[in-house]
Amino acid sequence: MDLRKTIREIENFPKPGINFKDITTLMKDGDAFRYTIDEFIKALKDKNVDVIVGPEARGFLMGTPVAYGLGVGFVPVRKPGKLPAEVESYEYGLEYGSDTLEIHKDAIKPGQRVAIVDDLLATGGTMEAAAKLIENLGGEVVSMQFLIELEFLEGRDKLTKYEVNSLIKY
Ligand code: IMP
Repeated sequence: MDLRKTIREIENFPKPGINFKDITTLMKDGDAFRYTIDEFIKALKDKNVDVIVGPEARGFLMGTPVAYGLGVGFVPVRKPGKLPAEVESYEYGLEYGSDTLEIHKDAIKPGQRVAIVDDLLATGGTMEAAAKLIENLGGEVVSMQFLIELEFLEGRDKLTKYEVNSLIKY
């Protein structure tokens, strides 16, 4: 299936110069959404994954149906102050300033095999931070799955230690 046709592109959103990839148009198309989730499940089914991690917010949309399909658990990685129990935090640099992501300390057990699922790989900062959080809890990141990869931003170069797979490349 040509998933690219179901992604809407919005010029200059959220800032001038950014060509935003809108996945809501894929998600409202039942065939395209099912195909996407099935592709992720196919890529992960032989990897003995114990848990799926999804970063806020679109990683929740992609990650939870994948976890359900594999019959494994789902763990959210969130922006600061959203998770109620004790958290592990990781601060990472942006072009201007920094950002922080959090995970519940008891969400991953040492030795667990974890796959991260998100909608889009841009600079790779989000994924690198999510992987660090998992590793700081003793988990092993066995795969990173994306719906979309913006190849010109070379996010993959930050993630050379990991298996990185994307369904659509721009
Ligand atoms: P990165 O950390 O630079 O790789 O950015 C990836 C994160 O930014 C993902 O969690 C995406 O949800 C979000 N993101 C960046 N650009 C877009 C876009 O064009 N469409 C949807 N999400 C985007």
